[in-house]
This record gives sequence, structure tokens and C-alpha cells, in this order.
Amino acid sequence: MSGHVADYIIVGQGIAGSMLALELASLGRSVVVFDDSHRLSGACLAAAGVLNPVTGKRLVRSPLAREALPFAAQRYAALEALLGAKFFHRRRILALTVSPEQGRELGERLGDPSYADFLSGPNPPGFFSSRNFRDEFGSFFINRSAWVEPPVLMEALEKYFENSGILIRQYFDARALKGVSGGVDYCGLTARAAIFCGGFIDARNPFFKWLNFRPAKGEILSLELQDKDFPDDIVHKTKWIMRSPGGFLRMGSTWDRACLDSLPTAEARRELLGWLGKFFVNPKLVAGDVLCHTAAVRPCTATTRPFVGFHPLDERIAIFNGFGSKGFALSPYFARMFAEHITLGKPLDPICDIRRTKCARVSFGSSKNAEGVL
Ligand SMILES: Cc1cc2nc3c(=O)[nH]c(=O)nc-3n(C[C@H](O)[C@H](O)[C@H](O)COP(=O)(O)OP(=O)(O)OC[C@H]3O[C@@H](n4cnc5c(N)ncnc54)[C@H](O)[C@@H]3O)c2cc1C
Repeated sequence: MSGHVADYIIVGQGIAGSMLALELASLGRSVVVFDDSHRLSGACLAAAGVLNPVTGKRLVRSPLAREALPFAAQRYAALEALLGAKFFHRRRILALTVSPEQGRELGERLGDPSYADFLSGPNPPGFFSSRNFRDEFGSFFINRSAWVEPPVLMEALEKYFENSGILIRQYFDARALKGVSGGVDYCGLTARAAIFCGGFIDARNPFFKWLNFRPAKGEILSLELQDKDFPDDIVHKTKWIMRSPGGFLRMGSTWDRACLDSLPTAEARRELLGWLGKFFVNPKLVAGDVLCHTAAVRPCTATTRPFVGFHPLDERIAIFNGFGSKGFALSPYFARMFAEHITLGKPLDPICDIRRTKCARVSFGSSKNAEGVL
């Protein structure tokens, strides 16, 4: 590795690191990307990959929905040509109303012109019962939503970075990072800065332990598809279920903030299989055996805002992280913003800028300093 020079070292080839690497390269900066083949964190592989503009029981439109989601959709569509792979699908969300309260909330949203592009309905209770859906409180559609197939996209990105000669399949040990004049040195590889994009692993990053991560584990099942007429829509009722082009169903997901590992659990499997009865009148007509069960940890933050920016006390290290349950939806937009901040000096949106948080001092490589060492 000795002697290599790049403008930026990116640590983590999840969706966040990948999007940032592409944006920096498109603005003429050279990057090298370290990744341990998703061993430390596989959130980018386990994710559903849904881009949903209206979320939660109260059907709140994400403040970024108007900008970030169309941006992501346009980026993914363009990436299909660059990467030579098909992973982006425009799909509606068929939302089965969960309660009379949500039905009332929906009524209010439907009367609000700022939701007109995003919601349509309501469909009365029983409208989809002939399709086996349990829609006892009615249903509605969320429009302008889309779906990215995470495993296909991540594999295509990995190949692309590998063919470009910029992917280093190695664990990056932050303790070995040295500050040098004008930049950093990692085992002989020098760069202007190291940018950490390691997902929830960065909650323990020696340089960024002062950021308030609140990671949450989530689990997903793949199931045999019995109903060949299952719609292309992503079906949502607190949890979601959808058909995959591979001819099976994917459903998820669970939330667990106590156990932060990537091991599938019997408890989550029970919870998800139990939920089939809330989606369908007769689940057996739709879903068969479990084909696959995955788990991973979302890099959520206490404020639900991403963490983006250079360390306030040392511009040789930076972070691009904290995308929580929306990494596929949000990271393309923020990657562009951060890349333009880095290369053109454009300001970061305060919504994501880590300078809003009180920070700890930087200490490269010292084993004695708790702030500088894992
Ligand atoms: C069950 C579930 C469902 C989800 N559904 C959706 C969804 O529908 N829509 C959506 O937008 N988002 C969804 N997400 C969230 C999304 O997966 C995350 O927001 C996203 O993956 C975060 O991306 P990331 O690149 O920051 O982290 P990660 O995807 O975790 O990637 C980080 C990478 O860095 C590597 N790494 C870390 N440290 C080092 C190191 N020191 N050296 C080398 N490599 C390192 C890791 O191994 C990994 O490969 C879901 C997540 C889960 C778990």
C-alpha cells in the first residue's frame, strides 16, 4: 500500500460510502475505499431498499421528500447504465390502514394540497379483500415511491470500484491513522482526509464517539411466493411485504435497540410470521416456507438526522453516516451535498452538519487517550 496517494480515503463501502465515492469522483477527486466485505456491518445488504416519501402511523411526509427522494430516484436510474445492472424499480405502496385513527389522519392529509402528489385514496374497507388483503380499516396508495434491490446494487457497486482499482478489501484500523502535514497517512497511503462511512460501527469510532448514535437492529425474511398474482405494489401495514423479481416475497422488519448484532433470532422470525395474519385473510395462499432470514443494524441517531461533515477541530477527518432506516433514500442527496461542500466550498444543510454538536478533541493513534482510540 505504501506510496499510494489519493485525495480522500473512504472507510466503508456501504450505500453511504459508495454514494460519496461516486460523487467525489464525479467532481474530479480521487478516492480509495476500504471495506471488509461487509463483515462488520451488512445493513446495506439486509435493507428493504424502499424509498418512501410518507412514513409513520401519522403519515408524515418527510421534509426531504420533495428534494432527496426524486434526487435518489434519478441517481439510481442513471447508475443502472453506469453499472450495467438492473436494480431500480418505481413501485407504488399499497398501504392498508392500521386503525380508525390513521383513517382520520389520512382524511386530513388528503385534504392538504402539499400531500396531493404523494397520497391517493381512500379505498373503503374490504376493497381488496377479494385479493386476500386484510383491509378492515380501508387502504390508500403512497405514490412517488420506489424500490432499490440492495444486494444487486451493492454487488454492482463493489465490482465497479474493484474494476476502477480503488477498492481495498481490508479492515481499516482507525488507531493506525496518523495525522501528517496537510493530511493523513494510513500505513503509507496518504490523503487529504479520511472520511468514515462505517454505518453503526462508527458509534465506536475513536474520532466520533461524541456523536449520539442510537443504532437499531432489524430483521427481514424471504418467503416462498404462493400467489403468482401478488401485485407489484409494496404492501404496507406497519410492516411491509413485497414480491421480488427473483419470484419470492421479502417482508420486514423488526426493531431492537438492545441487541446490536447481525444474528437472526427466533423471536423476530415469530414476530414477522405472525404479522402475515395481519396482512392477509389467509396467509397460506400467499406465503410459503422461509427461504432466508437476515439481520443487520441500522445506523440511527438520537435526533434522527444524519451526521455529515469534517471534524470541527481537525479537517483531516470527516464522517458521512447516521442515515438510520433511510440510507438508500437519503444518502445519494447528502453525498452530493457533502461532495460539493468538499470540492466547491458550498455550505452543508444544518440539518446534517455535525458542527451543530459539541465535540471532543482529536488524538491520532494514542492508546492512552480515550477519545483517540477504539
Ligand atoms: C432491516 C432493515 C431494513 C431497512 N430498510 C430500508 C429501506 O427500506 N430504505 C432505506 O432507505 N434504508 C433502509 N434501511 C437502512 C439502510 O440499510 C441503512 O441506512 C444503510 O445501509 C446505512 O448505510 P451505511 O453505508 O452508512 O452503513 P452500512 O450499510 O452498514 O455499511 C457500512 C460498511 O462499512 C464497513 N465498515 C465499517 N467499518 C469498517 C472498517 N473499520 N474497515 C472496513 N470496513 C468497515 C461495513 O462492513 C459495511 O460494509 C434498512 C436497514 C435494515 C437493517
